[in-house]
Amino acid sequence: MISLLLAALAAAPVFAANRDADLRRETLAHAKALIALDTSNPPGNEIIAARYIEDALKKEGIASELYTSTGTRTSLVARLKGDGSKRPLLLMCHIDVVPADPKGWTVAPFTPLEKDGYLYGRGAADMKGQCAAEMAVLSFLKRTGTPLARDVIFFAEADEESGASVRHIDSLLRDKPELVAAEFGINEGGNSVWKDGHVQEIRVEAAEKEYMDLTITAKGKPGHSSVPTEDNALARLAGAILRLSAHRFPVVLNPVARGFLERQAETSSPEVSAAIKTVLAASEGPQRDAAGAALARLAPEFGAMLRDTVTPTMLKAGYKSNVIPADATATFNTRLLPGRKAADMIADIRRIVNDPRIEIAFEPPTRAPVGAMPIDTPLYRAAVESAPGVRVMPYMAAWTTDSADLRAHGTIMYGINPPTTSEDQKRIHGEDERVPLAALDWYVTYLRDIVVKTAGK
Ligand SMILES: [Zn+2]
Repeated sequence: MISLLLAALAAAPVFAANRDADLRRETLAHAKALIALDTSNPPGNEIIAARYIEDALKKEGIASELYTSTGTRTSLVARLKGDGSKRPLLLMCHIDVVPADPKGWTVAPFTPLEKDGYLYGRGAADMKGQCAAEMAVLSFLKRTGTPLARDVIFFAEADEESGASVRHIDSLLRDKPELVAAEFGINEGGNSVWKDGHVQEIRVEAAEKEYMDLTITAKGKPGHSSVPTEDNALARLAGAILRLSAHRFPVVLNPVARGFLERQAETSSPEVSAAIKTVLAASEGPQRDAAGAALARLAPEFGAMLRDTVTPTMLKAGYKSNVIPADATATFNTRLLPGRKAADMIADIRRIVNDPRIEIAFEPPTRAPVGAMPIDTPLYRAAVESAPGVRVMPYMAAWTTDSADLRAHGTIMYGINPPTTSEDQKRIHGEDERVPLAALDWYVTYLRDIVVKTAGK
């Protein structure tokens, strides 16, 4: 009896090691299989990936539900039941990819390839590698019979990449919101950092800035330039551009920006670190705004996380050097802080432009504004505790993901994706997309630990 017990004890770490090896092997196999299925969007044809996942999960005894909005635009949802004492945890990913023109690639985009320590192929980083890891974790939970307090829902989403204002996710959330309703979720978006063979920083994406373009048009008196008047459309527009560009919107320190800056202060240069600490210590209002402006001069990427931005990007005016044009137009790209209402932003812009003869046109974001996520949650704590010795920080993205749609439905979503090097980052949506094999290996056990900590009993 004792010898049996001893044998079992001795074998336990071996089993655990084997299970980790299984997780890694399965993740790589699923990632390769998914890359080989061309789900370039348009048209997406996501049903081929959904069917692959359905078959793979069926072999583990996990049932899936497919949801088709139109044609072959299909998502998959699978659920492992918990005991119902806590609300579900959602593991989300998108199974479509942006198109790839093989001309610019040195490898075939839809033929997965392991080379020099990387997995190459369209979707390796964005985001079939993460889909594969989520599948492997789901299978792990089922196979090991891990007791769950929360349902664990796997949601392989179609049509993330089209960029259309109305997409598959809108139909799904309208027709079957109960399929993906959860307290917490994990999706793409954090851009964690992999360097020299190790995870260096885990960035938990917990807030997103919203994108909005606007055009401002100045009208004036047209005529021959030899007889100038004071009512020149170009000059009027130039004044408006200057006023808008010079304006600094107030610094807002939501919990995500604060948490991120606190971590950055630990590793930044002494100068940047001091500027961060000044921002964190300043009282709200002019003092904090001035501190934010000083930080933005030293580290523009940090400054952009602190306020709404309005950036002139295009100009259109005139057609002949001796003719005063009747109008002149400038385009601005704006990024709104999480939760900021577009209508409020436009009202501010009108006030700053301060010229009733300048027209302002804009296309408001289609999604309802969502604020920054809280970070004092069991899921965030699990993300920290599952990576001992690694710097984990909340992160605000300057772009949007479909996490926004789930957030608008009340789910606390975080972006926690496989870490990549800065070179890998540049290749996302570009050529020779890849993910470090060791990073994918590391990620799947990290994800498993987070899920077990958050959803396990
Ligand atoms: Zn993506």
